[in-house]
Amino acid sequence: MFNSDNLSVNSQNHLIIGKHDTVELAKEFGTPLYVLDEDLMRKNCREFKKAIDTYYSGNGLVLFASKALCTMYTGKLVADEGLGADVVSGGELYTLYKAGFPMDKVFFHGNNKTADEIELALNCGVGHFVVDNKTELDLINAMAKSKCITQKILFRIKPGIDAHTHDFIKTGQIDSKFGVALENGEAFEIHKYASTLSNIQIDGVHCHIGSQIFDVEPFCEAAKVMINFVADLYESLGIKANIVNLGGGFGIKYASVDDPLTPAEYIRKVAETVTEIAKERNVDLPFLVFEPGRSIVASAGITLYTVGSVKEIENIRTYVSVDGGMTDNPRYILYGSKYSVVIANNANADTVAPITIAGKCCESGDLIQENILMPEIKVGDTLAVLATGAYNYSMASNYNRIPRPPIVAVNGDKKKVIVKRESYEDIIKNDIL
Ligand SMILES: *Cc1c(COP(=O)(O)O)cnc(C)c1O
Repeated sequence: MFNSDNLSVNSQNHLIIGKHDTVELAKEFGTPLYVLDEDLMRKNCREFKKAIDTYYSGNGLVLFASKALCTMYTGKLVADEGLGADVVSGGELYTLYKAGFPMDKVFFHGNNKTADEIELALNCGVGHFVVDNKTELDLINAMAKSKCITQKILFRIKPGIDAHTHDFIKTGQIDSKFGVALENGEAFEIHKYASTLSNIQIDGVHCHIGSQIFDVEPFCEAAKVMINFVADLYESLGIKANIVNLGGGFGIKYASVDDPLTPAEYIRKVAETVTEIAKERNVDLPFLVFEPGRSIVASAGITLYTVGSVKEIENIRTYVSVDGGMTDNPRYILYGSKYSVVIANNANADTVAPITIAGKCCESGDLIQENILMPEIKVGDTLAVLATGAYNYSMASNYNRIPRPPIVAVNGDKKKVIVKRESYEDIIKNDIL
């Protein structure tokens, strides 16, 4: 009935996450509230890891794309599970560093890393930079030189794969702001140039073809392109780029129509393709890296809200307003993203009419969902929006000076606040009168 197996309904008709009654959680911690099912997040990490062990003899590494949910606690959890991580900013890097994350398993992305961020990453001992452009390459080389280190890098390649997804989150094509293109020779030239630099070691190649991709074919296509490029690099320049990082973007179930593959299904196919092409081109089997973000954490999270008003505009629509909105979940206003919504205190009720769930921000587009069929909703009800574990807390803002909600992690019978609710004092802490 729900998006993931960890959700159920008890005899009082309350929504249960893991072993916890969401209505009780809302009472104890207040709303809006992010709830993270730590057990499910761990299970997802293990499934990816196991898939590489099973279908690729463990010759690879799974990185958690920390932008999906970046907190010290989840960083530590991911490290405990034996995964690496990727980061795209100094702030994400610093969070993992402070959580004690093994820095040699961190890959640093981004299309405009600042000198300060590069400095921080070099000082922390980041394993790999995923280099976007020549300016960055020169800067890393110079800074590494002044520190007498050789920095390992991968280049971000645009493999030219159209992954059939939402325009805003499609990144594989030539007009993408990320990386260097293959088809115009840019990628080849930058490798040739980098191989002349004193403090740079080219270790591999990276691509990321998009997000919320339900087919395995685009990943296999990207793998083909990348392995062929690695083979070309070796043949023409003698460069051994043994790491092939194929990024993330595996789809998850937001709405009932979504039907994602399992990590095992994705990785088995890709591993087969990689093995085939490597053999064909007579190159060593690469060390394979994947960077799932959403597929590790989205389904493990839900958001709880309290309904504050129900406004029926006769023959037009009914607005149900909640005590959060685009500040804690900006994905509807950004992408029109679909979500499943459940009345947490009346989880099995029959749907009666379409309603629109509105946030409390001063913005007409501040909606959680529009015209979705729901049971009758009353003021005071607790609403649960499902699969909000990824790109909700991490994209949250303080618009209208609304404090960000806390995150409570549940694991077995236990529960723990892993991020505190922001206070009004937090809101003004950087203001100067
Ligand atoms: C966003 C991103 C990811 C993760 O994408 P998901 O859709 O969350 O799996 C991985 N790698 C890179 C480079 C990204 O930009």
